[in-house]
Amino acid sequence: MTTVETTELRSRMSGQVVTPDDAGYDDARAIYNAMIDRRPAVIARCRSVADVQAALDAGRRAGLPIAVRGGGHNGPGFGSVDDGLVVDLSPMNEVVVDPGARTVRVQGGATWGAVDAATHEHGLATPSGIISTTGVGGLTLGGGHGYLSRKYGLTIDNLLEAQVVLADGRVVTASESEHPDLFWALRGGGGNFGVVTSLRFRLHPVTNVVAGPTVWPVDATADVLRWYRDFLPAQHEDLYGFFAVMTIPPGDPFPEPLHLQKACGVVWCYAGDPADADAALAPVRELQPQWEGIGSVPYPGLQAGFDALYPKGLQWYWRGDFVREVPDEAVAAHVRFAQELPSTHSTMHLYPVDGAVRRVGQSDTAWSYRDVTFSQVIVGVDPDPANAAAITRWTSDYWEATHPYSAGGAYVNFMMDEGQDRVRATYQGNYDRLAEVKANYDPDNTFRINQNIHPAR
Ligand SMILES: Cc1cc2nc3c(=O)[nH]c(=O)nc-3n(C[C@H](O)[C@H](O)[C@H](O)COP(=O)(O)OP(=O)(O)OC[C@H]3O[C@@H](n4cnc5c(N)ncnc54)[C@H](O)[C@@H]3O)c2cc1C
Repeated sequence: MTTVETTELRSRMSGQVVTPDDAGYDDARAIYNAMIDRRPAVIARCRSVADVQAALDAGRRAGLPIAVRGGGHNGPGFGSVDDGLVVDLSPMNEVVVDPGARTVRVQGGATWGAVDAATHEHGLATPSGIISTTGVGGLTLGGGHGYLSRKYGLTIDNLLEAQVVLADGRVVTASESEHPDLFWALRGGGGNFGVVTSLRFRLHPVTNVVAGPTVWPVDATADVLRWYRDFLPAQHEDLYGFFAVMTIPPGDPFPEPLHLQKACGVVWCYAGDPADADAALAPVRELQPQWEGIGSVPYPGLQAGFDALYPKGLQWYWRGDFVREVPDEAVAAHVRFAQELPSTHSTMHLYPVDGAVRRVGQSDTAWSYRDVTFSQVIVGVDPDPANAAAITRWTSDYWEATHPYSAGGAYVNFMMDEGQDRVRATYQGNYDRLAEVKANYDPDNTFRINQNIHPAR
């Protein structure tokens, strides 16, 4: 972008325009995953829909690749782009709750912590992920699963409408009644169709939940995982628990003798009547965990429980898969890689995506894997860039060992930049319809810094 074009964009925007010559450039370009180090030509920090329109127009006229950033948490770093223009939505973070209608309207750059805090004041919540610093935009457009998903579905199953700035600058509302094809595609199709400037979600009565981890020594991984794979799917949807192989963090609330021990565990969330939680968790306690940290906690507290362990700026490499069943051969692979965890932060999670998630049909939204039991993610994480190769190798080897037992595709929000075959495998029979919607709403593929869907025409 020329100096004249940048000056013109500055004059059109109420938000800041940051270029490599500006003092705040390094802060402005930093994203959550420090393994990704991109140098955009322009970062447009949008404060309004009009700012988004101005930034898109300037980027398109200058012929720059355009990335859209919500919370900046994306693994492969699709919230940024080398030598291109970043539409940074982080200043657009307003959250407005309508307690009477049990809905919340959220601007496209907000994080889940802000949503949970605002809705909790009214004893309400909607399903999202397990870290409160994650962006509402990216998590929702990819699908969104977390502690409330067995009971209330994916995040997209609670999306009522979205306001979208299209590549040509038009502003449209997508819902079941307006632009229904776009609304269908937004629910799982990622950031392929436009800049989502606001989203409205359905809320549910959720105040305190009974939640927390149970841990066992790493030697028990085979027994606990075999028990978990059979136990959890058979339970009432009020009970949620994700399985993890992990290293016990060296701090509260974990007892000191366990610090830095390799382990397996399950993080539970009981979202039914708290009086029934002990009965629901009794079979877990029969398995005699080495330690448990389960208690009554305000829902936003649970959501923020891992924030301090995973601050911005760590090295991340991750791979995902959808999983129908966990056969004994896969259990053996999990045991092997649990014993070889390469760093304290590295982990593997199996997130339940059954229950209410399955009550929506395979082609009702773009998110096609409605028949699986778990969404698996393997993350190699470490603060030290010198360990980047080691965590990447462990993650890749682990994925190679378990992928043969998977359903084929992966949750788009748990994928690296793995190419078109992987994107197609993830959308299965929904891909062709997504490509048609893409051709109608973004025929030039302006929004291509993502798990890209190619326009059908
Ligand atoms: C520590 C951690 C824990 C996580 N846990 C979970 C979890 O429990 N459940 C879960 O479902 N996911 C989880 N995720 C994955 C998360 O959903 C993805 O990383 C997601 O991409 C993050 O969204 P973002 O807005 O923060 O990211 P960004 O990097 O800003 O954006 C990600 C993608 O979405 C697009 N995008 C973002 N906002 C918009 C918008 N408003 N309009 C158009 N396009 C947009 C971007 O262009 C980009 O392609 C986790 C991620 C991390 C890092």
